[in-house]
Amino acid sequence: MDSLRRNQYLQAIGVDVWVSRRAVAVADEVAIAGAAASTAGAAAAMQEPVPSLGGGVAAASAGPDSASRVASPAASTVTTWESLRAEVLTCTKCTLHTTRTQGVFGVGNREAQWLVVGEAPGAEEDRRGEPFVGRAGHLLDAMLRAIGLNRVNNVYIANVLKSRPPGNRDPKPEEVAACLPFLMRQIELLKPRVMLAVGRIAAQNLLATDAPLGRLRGKVHHFGELNTPLIVTYHPAYLLRTPSDKRKAWEDLKFARSVFRELTIT
Ligand code: SF4
Repeated sequence: MDSLRRNQYLQAIGVDVWVSRRAVAVADEVAIAGAAASTAGAAAAMQEPVPSLGGGVAAASAGPDSASRVASPAASTVTTWESLRAEVLTCTKCTLHTTRTQGVFGVGNREAQWLVVGEAPGAEEDRRGEPFVGRAGHLLDAMLRAIGLNRVNNVYIANVLKSRPPGNRDPKPEEVAACLPFLMRQIELLKPRVMLAVGRIAAQNLLATDAPLGRLRGKVHHFGELNTPLIVTYHPAYLLRTPSDKRKAWEDLKFARSVFRELTIT
């Protein structure tokens, strides 16, 4: 990805783009396009191609499980994904089925190496049947594009809860207990190389902790039997309310990208 486009993505996220005068030591900082030539080290770092992430760059928006149209996984896998999806869409395991418009299964490439996990559908997601749409979804897409990812080609996106809690309240423990097995089965099917938990609710439920999000950021956790590396960052809806934390989210994304690079190098 060229630095100009990356800077456009960062500006779309709302991360201030600035120039570092130290080349190598701050190679992970963002260089402004106009001064990139005078900060060769930093610019080179930002222009470094993202390693193979499962596909090329494509348009960021897609319908639910759009990747089933993009990728061609084995027929038996499709059947399993489809049967799981059907289970979610007809699920009545907790009371949220009485207030939802529809279940929200997930979206993205079913062979992606990255899994993004959020909290639960909001009003727009409930209406459209797709996770992370609306303003928060657009911000998430911009954040992902900034590290060379998109929900069509190389990311799968799902929530802890598949049905919307009324009024966007926090999920209740019994609702998470009822719904989490669906996410676990999605993870079994996907076998992601890296997971990105966005927001406190997703992070705390995936890691079975009540630690605040600030203490969970900036380190590599491991999830499940496969010890999948898991990075924690802010929920885009929170970032819309607190734009001053967007730079921290950018640091988290770069950290997640570096973890993924390590995995693909070794
Ligand atoms: S939230 Fe999960 S467990 Fe509850 S009804 Fe929806 S799909 Fe079923």
